[in-house]
Amino acid sequence: MASDWLPQRCGKVKDMGKGFDIGLERLTAAGVPPLGETQEGGLKPPLQDAGATGATFYLETFGCQMNDHDSEKVAGVLLARGYRQVDGPEAAKVILYNTCSIREKAAQKVFSRLGELRPAEEKLTADSQQPTAEEPPKHNFERVVHGARAAGKSAQPGMAVPREANHPSLRKIVNAGGGKIIGVLGCVAQQEGEEIFERAPWVSLVCGSASYRKLPQLLAELEAGNRRVTGLDTDTDETFETEITRRDNPWRAYLTIIEGCDKACSYCVVPFTRGPERSRASASILEEVRRLAEVGYSEVQLLGQTVNSYADPSARKMRFSELLAAVAEARGIRRVRFTTSHPRDFGKDIVEAIEAHPTICDHVHLPVQSGSTAVLRAMARTYSREEYLEKIALMKAARRPISITTDMIVGFPGETEKDFEETLSLLDEVQYDSVFAFKYSPRPNTPSLKMPDAIPEEEKGRRLAILMDRQREIQRVRNEKLVGETFEVLVDGKSRRENQWSGHTSSNRVMNFASPERELLGDYVQVKVVSAMPNSLVGEMVGRA
Ligand code: SAM
Ligand code: SF4
Repeated sequence: MASDWLPQRCGKVKDMGKGFDIGLERLTAAGVPPLGETQEGGLKPPLQDAGATGATFYLETFGCQMNDHDSEKVAGVLLARGYRQVDGPEAAKVILYNTCSIREKAAQKVFSRLGELRPAEEKLTADSQQPTAEEPPKHNFERVVHGARAAGKSAQPGMAVPREANHPSLRKIVNAGGGKIIGVLGCVAQQEGEEIFERAPWVSLVCGSASYRKLPQLLAELEAGNRRVTGLDTDTDETFETEITRRDNPWRAYLTIIEGCDKACSYCVVPFTRGPERSRASASILEEVRRLAEVGYSEVQLLGQTVNSYADPSARKMRFSELLAAVAEARGIRRVRFTTSHPRDFGKDIVEAIEAHPTICDHVHLPVQSGSTAVLRAMARTYSREEYLEKIALMKAARRPISITTDMIVGFPGETEKDFEETLSLLDEVQYDSVFAFKYSPRPNTPSLKMPDAIPEEEKGRRLAILMDRQREIQRVRNEKLVGETFEVLVDGKSRRENQWSGHTSSNRVMNFASPERELLGDYVQVKVVSAMPNSLVGEMVGRA
């Protein structure tokens, strides 16, 4: 099975392929000064100031780019309060997990992390207990099925959680004196709510993304000695904006323009965990873009679960395509990306904006989920196969070639062999440049949880492998056609191998290339493709862009 090549994304448009096959040095943070400050002579060092408190924090992020960017903003909030970011939980006073619950596996990860943080005395107590017949002896967890919960919540069968650990010693270990403050943020926080305190009593903070604007206040309460604080409202029309964002990439800046989701795909937890759609005012977005360009960012990526459903709340009422064009025209910006687009709100105006502005990257991620209209209907995706193909036709007719990528789910309840064949035939018809494929994962609160004709895990796995093999071959052929062509590449990686670099084309393809230049990170260069693989291109530098 070719499972090592196709990225399994967590709601995340990852690189279209792997970088170097030997260790690629990942880029590390070069922070951005507080908005409004300019700089001379390159990027400023990371924003890390122990401040008056000397307190430290560790922040681990799971999931999509929106979570990555939320974490950048959360880090900014903590830095502004005088905290210093550290690399591991051991050295941290505050440990935060920004979580994802899009699929069950992603959600389980955080409970296993919390289990690792169980206070030592508690571990001893739990480990010394005899395992029951249901509990595998080597794990420190038990499988539980929760009963019905408060309004809006439902059971999450089979979630691995730490054993009951309500030990009096915890009270002094957690959030007291030199104790650590442990917080769960993001989608699992929103989904599980205060139940996290019952399952992991050493947690002090539970906050969903729709309440991040309250974080400074919640942190202040914890600093004042409060034992447990929560931010779990989703009935908001506010977005999360901060004065300081600690950005992880020195060239590509993420910018959330719309939060939440009003669509109601029958398999998806996002509308429950991220709340209703809220868009940022266009003037505030454009001002941030201007400031980002001023401090050296040349690429911005506009983010939203359905980024093209953007609805400007200001009197200006800019359409998404107008906003795209305005960002593309900002001085100093060389590349504009946007993700994720929903097919329902994808129109000709977006294609026209791409045609008219070379700075808007020639790449659209347009998740289809299934090639069968019957399955799309069951998923409540609001379009048929034919309607989706009309959107694809708009892009194929564009004056500039546009790279198209997608998300697909296999094994949705009731998906027949014929439905699956239709998904495969869609691959052939569209000729995607990359596909992020997932096995259907039943999620709490979602309508599809109750749908009949569940597909067995083994069968889902079989379908996924077939889909990935088919798509791998499509990508191999498509990429081979690019041999001999020259592309502009933003260099964002350096191999440990001498003279080897890596970057992304405008179409978001990974390009590995050779150049004897001493320093290229952050530069735009011209690279000629000499060979191609399904997930990346290999080239040689032929000039500067
Ligand atoms: N808003 C985007 C859209 O409408 O296409 C997608 C955002 S979602 C966070 C990212 C991807 O996760 C989806 O496109 C879908 O393929 C996948 N996904 C969401 N829920 C899933 C589930 N219950 N099981 C498997 N994959 C799922
Ligand atoms: Fe989930 Fe559908 Fe909203 Fe995308 S559009 S986030 S898949 S509910």
